[in-house]
Amino acid sequence: MEDQIRIHKLIKHDAQFKKFLTTPAKLKYPRAGQTPWRLFVQRTRGGPWAHKSYPSYPEAYNALRKYLPTCHDAAINCKPQGFEPPMVRQNYKVRLRSANSAAKPKFVVKTRQLYIPMPFGHNWCPFCRRPTVFKRMKSHALYKSIHMEDNPSRCTLCGARREFIQSCFLSFPFDTTLTWPIESKASR
Ligand SMILES: [Zn+2]
Repeated sequence: MEDQIRIHKLIKHDAQFKKFLTTPAKLKYPRAGQTPWRLFVQRTRGGPWAHKSYPSYPEAYNALRKYLPTCHDAAINCKPQGFEPPMVRQNYKVRLRSANSAAKPKFVVKTRQLYIPMPFGHNWCPFCRRPTVFKRMKSHALYKSIHMEDNPSRCTLCGARREFIQSCFLSFPFDTTLTWPIESKASR
C-alpha cells in the first residue's frame, strides 16, 4: 500500500494546509450535545488508528497538538460535514490583442482561484479534511459490521466511499493545475 503522507510533512511544507488546519472550522448545522469532530491518531507507522470524538474544533485541535510530537500521523475528521480543500489565488498574464503587430506587446494580469494541490497518489478527503490515500478495500476498522463485497474505493483513513463523496461534491477529486508542494508564486 502506498504510504500516506504524514500530517507533520503537510504542516511543514504546505502553508495553505497549515492555515486551514489551524483555523477553527465551523459547521453549517451545529447541534447541541453532539461530538462531530473526531481526532484520528496513528501512534506508529502501519499501526492501528485510534480515534476520539470532541464537541468543538478547538478541543479536537488542542488534543491534536498534544499528540503531534510523538505520533506517526493524525487527522481531524468531521463526521457530519465534508469540506472542500482550501483555494489559492494565482495570477497569470494575458497578452492583449493589438491591430498593430509592430507595437510592443501589452499584457494584463488576471487572477484565478485554484484548489490546493495534493501530494502524488493522494486525494483530498472532505471528511478527514486533508490529503489521504484512496483505495479499494475489503474491510475497514471503522466498518467491521458492514459487508464490503462491492469493494468500493474508499478513503483509507475514515472509510468514506469515493461515490458518496462524489455525490456530495461534484468537483471531487478537486483537480488543479498546481503541483505539490505549491509553487511559491501562488498566494492566498
Ligand atoms: Zn477520509
